[in-house]
Amino acid sequence: MSDNVEITEKKEQIGTCLYCGQERHIQTIGELSPAELDAMATDMCLCIDAVNAKRKKAREEKIKEFVKKKFITPEMCDYIHLSIELLNDKCFEEFQIKQYPDKVVKIWIDNDDFLHIRIKKTEDDELKA
Ligand SMILES: [Zn+2]
Repeated sequence: MSDNVEITEKKEQIGTCLYCGQERHIQTIGELSPAELDAMATDMCLCIDAVNAKRKKAREEKIKEFVKKKFITPEMCDYIHLSIELLNDKCFEEFQIKQYPDKVVKIWIDNDDFLHIRIKKTEDDELKA
């Protein structure tokens, strides 16, 4: 009888935070590329730039999810993302878009740098039967 051989070999590799250069020992299974290790080290790092980058990414994901849920076609989503980009670049102060048939979309960035997307219904849903 032979013992079972452990197939997955745990390794300790080193990754570097892309922002502060701090090195980190990372337990990996199998070999990871330096880029993957650096991305993991950056993700674990608590330096201000890494934390800000994580926050920014989370915020972008949140915006993407909202836009995808609220705007039906890919073209509409692209248009909203373009509007957000132009607001971020300070090209425009706000956008107001009339969305057929009964919605008005307002997009702006407030003084604390928060992005707002407000979808307002201009007509009430009413049934009289
Ligand atoms: Zn760092």
